[in-house]
Amino acid sequence: MDLEGLYQEIILDHYKHPRGKGELTSPLAEVHHVNPTCGDEITVQIATDPAGHLLVGYQGLGCSISQASASVMSELVNGNSIEVAETARAAFVDMMHAQGSGEPNEEILGDGIAFAGVAKYPARVKCALLPWMALRDAQIQANLAESEEG
Ligand code: ZN
Repeated sequence: MDLEGLYQEIILDHYKHPRGKGELTSPLAEVHHVNPTCGDEITVQIATDPAGHLLVGYQGLGCSISQASASVMSELVNGNSIEVAETARAAFVDMMHAQGSGEPNEEILGDGIAFAGVAKYPARVKCALLPWMALRDAQIQANLAESEEG
């Protein structure tokens, strides 16, 4: 199987078996974002555990790219520190803006590297970024963002 095929398999797997999907019992913030060009919707909730690690819950509907991206986001962020979450988000956003060039960091991005191929298709980039934009918004509303940037 070539790399593109492998990436598609990973995305499809996250779409069919979303990780961490569900609602939090007592979220600090909840945001709802839509991607009108594709019809994707995502609701992201955020909270922290006693150790200060992020807890992320989400509900969504839409294309396989947007929903798989939400699953990957949950995998990379849920239970991790704000710092780790922001590193992952920055790496993901950079990758999606690299238009298929550049070397995505698998150590940081995990299954997220599967979206490297998606970055070549501008219409799909919005789908992939939707959950991450919602996460950022939720973090800001809950005062859980590390610093102001972008
Ligand atoms: Zn979409």
